[in-house]
Amino acid sequence: MNNPTTRDILADLIAFDSVSRNSNLALIDYVQVYLSSYGVESQIIHDASGEKANLLAVIGPQDLPGIVLSGHTDVVPVDGQDWHSDPFLLTERSGKLYGRGTADMKSWLAAVLALVPRLVAARLRMPVWIAFSYDEEVGCKGVHGLLAQLDKLPVLPAACIVGEPTEMYPVMGHKGKIAVRCNVTGLSAHSAYTPQGVNAIEYAVRIMQQLMTLANRLKQQKNLDFDPPFSTLQTGLINGGKALNIVPEHCQFDFEIRTLPQVNAQQLVDEITTWTQAELLPEMQAISPQCAITFSTLSRYPALQTQSVDMIDALLTLLPKPQILQTVAYGTEGGLFQQHGIPTLVCGPGCMEQGHKPDEFITLEQLQACDAFMLRLWHWLQD
Ligand SMILES: [Zn+2]
Repeated sequence: MNNPTTRDILADLIAFDSVSRNSNLALIDYVQVYLSSYGVESQIIHDASGEKANLLAVIGPQDLPGIVLSGHTDVVPVDGQDWHSDPFLLTERSGKLYGRGTADMKSWLAAVLALVPRLVAARLRMPVWIAFSYDEEVGCKGVHGLLAQLDKLPVLPAACIVGEPTEMYPVMGHKGKIAVRCNVTGLSAHSAYTPQGVNAIEYAVRIMQQLMTLANRLKQQKNLDFDPPFSTLQTGLINGGKALNIVPEHCQFDFEIRTLPQVNAQQLVDEITTWTQAELLPEMQAISPQCAITFSTLSRYPALQTQSVDMIDALLTLLPKPQILQTVAYGTEGGLFQQHGIPTLVCGPGCMEQGHKPDEFITLEQLQACDAFMLRLWHWLQD
């Protein structure tokens, strides 16, 4: 039997419509069957609905600290995008492979799986963990179940590589993010009698102004490794009011804060919450005790600042372009792995410039660069 190439596996993975809103079980099942054909058992970790799952598998001696090769199985939607070929059919055009997830990040998953026959045939001096998650694209929601399993291991892995597209450059940091929904409940009234109502939109505006003040303050704390070199905050969605002649009873808006590693996002949300309770709520409740302002977290992931440990240094020597400290603007599951005590590097084939867009692609050259890294890793795991 010929072992499939990274490209063969990529073609299979692209064919699964694993957009985050869909079940990823067909893809997970494919990976499980593939691994078991090489005698590797998988642990499938379902979500509460049973519709989605993480997959965890290990090759090599489990009583030693090893390396996690990690990636997410979900992709972003193609709705409304102008594709020149079927996004779920891997298609080659002039040195590029097109398809949803080719860059973000099924090429990495395929390269990891293509290495499996070699890994199982080798005498590894440490284990390799394969950790595939779901729901990364909707706020790193799926990986928590996987991390809970890793937490239970008697010996924690020594390092993790999250293979998000970095063109195989080692990325040692990114900002964290918290997305928050604010609901303002006022009191409706006829607009001719505004003093009898509590205008939820106007109170929402005051909260947003306070958020803008906070955004300005955040600019003062700089870290030049990041672009922009400060934490950012913005309101991105708003909804409120029923008609112009009614004092609006409800207003809802969503904001996000993207924080440098040294900034505590929850503290900022707590600060805003405390301010609204002290400055706005008493005024509102003087008119109606039903008035309320609530904040709820929609999603969050921590920033990543890769710990400099021996295992990370060793992995860096295997990369084609090492020793360049880089950060990326997008978030990954890396900060969560590190929060669970596993030093984590982000490095994978392809470029995030192509991620999430129509005609997403990976170059054949990047696919080869990733395969070359996998081979060096394989050799190193046997030294
Ligand atoms: Zn991704």
